Amino acid sequence: MSLQEIFATRAGRMKASEIRELLKLLDQPDIISFAGGIPDPALFPKAAFQEAFADVLNGPLAGQALQYSTSEGHKPLRDWLATHMQAIGIPATPDNILITSGSQQALDYLGKLFLSPGDTALVGWPTYLGALGAFNAYEPRYDKLDPLSNRSGADYCAAAQAAGGSAKFAYLSVDFANPTGATVSRAARERVIDLAEEMDIAVIEDAAYQALRFDGEVIPPILALEAARRGGDIEECRTIYCGSFSKTLSPGLRVGWVCAAMPVIRQLVLMKQAADLHSATLNQIAITQVAETHFDAHIETIRTAYRARRDVMLDALAAHMPEGVSWTRPEGGMFIWVTLPDSLDGADLLARSLESERVAFVPGHAFFADGSGRNTLRLSYATSDEARISEGIKRLGNLIGKALDS
Ligand code: PMP
Repeated sequence: MSLQEIFATRAGRMKASEIRELLKLLDQPDIISFAGGIPDPALFPKAAFQEAFADVLNGPLAGQALQYSTSEGHKPLRDWLATHMQAIGIPATPDNILITSGSQQALDYLGKLFLSPGDTALVGWPTYLGALGAFNAYEPRYDKLDPLSNRSGADYCAAAQAAGGSAKFAYLSVDFANPTGATVSRAARERVIDLAEEMDIAVIEDAAYQALRFDGEVIPPILALEAARRGGDIEECRTIYCGSFSKTLSPGLRVGWVCAAMPVIRQLVLMKQAADLHSATLNQIAITQVAETHFDAHIETIRTAYRARRDVMLDALAAHMPEGVSWTRPEGGMFIWVTLPDSLDGADLLARSLESERVAFVPGHAFFADGSGRNTLRLSYATSDEARISEGIKRLGNLIGKALDS
């Protein structure tokens, strides 16, 4: 017998990620990879973590660090995060914060919390592939969130009902989004709050890249804008903020957080208890020490490095891309989004690029809930040095030029 036949229906919605497969290519030294949306390991604050882990394991907290701990998360870390949230305009207390195993776990829990099969999740077109992966397990339908269009909340709700469920949340990656590098404008953030109010749904604000702004004007988080409307009371807010240390300190330690009104946090705590009890205690304590002592200085270091790489990639694109190709100009984060003429297909181009140019990137269609966007690509400048970025974009520009001529 094949066990596949008795898997739950949700398993049918879980597909291997194209990006995970591509990440294997990063091991081949001759490939110039713009594919992985991962931080540069050369920039990790290794000495700070060596010290933090040694301090914890050699000090009075060693027993606590190796022990089970509370599902809410390490209290000093929640204290640090409450202060960090306040600094970006969110009036949070430690009770508004749950530590998760990366923000990916938060997305899974929020899918589990809100989505019954057939319910609607409003997402960007394109959107973060990992969010679709997390939500897919709960068998939703997706609708295209387009806050600055004329579409009314009633219209989104009617479409959700016609599909046999209800609209439950709007999900958006707000700053220097994965995959587009674009930032949601203040007007669009305000409009998302209006829409969510009209529809009586939640807003999931994915702020994984929030700290990585290089230039441009800081836009307050949606949760900060909503709290300001409600007299500074986070308990009245429908926005659920998902943060992460993955892009700032280390993704390998798997530490993220959710910041929201207490009833949401309390329900997520129960979910976490049932799923994995708590995030790794030792990692939370080490992250607390590194955040308290090194966060601001380290952010400056990585912003400077990534800003320089972004600039080199933008210059190389301007120099080498043929007519008809356009791209985003991110104010932070790791990604540039390229739109090719309609006649080109990103997946075909990747196959040719790997074979003849040894340059990797992610075809954009994977980021569209409906599989459209075949003429788009995601480029990451985070993990290549400046010389390889220039060389890789030059090769890619030549290849696209040839593909357009043929
Ligand atoms: N959200 C976005 C937009 C991301 O790009 C990522 C990581 N690629 C995540 C969430 C998940 O990150 P983590 O679980 O490491 O916090």
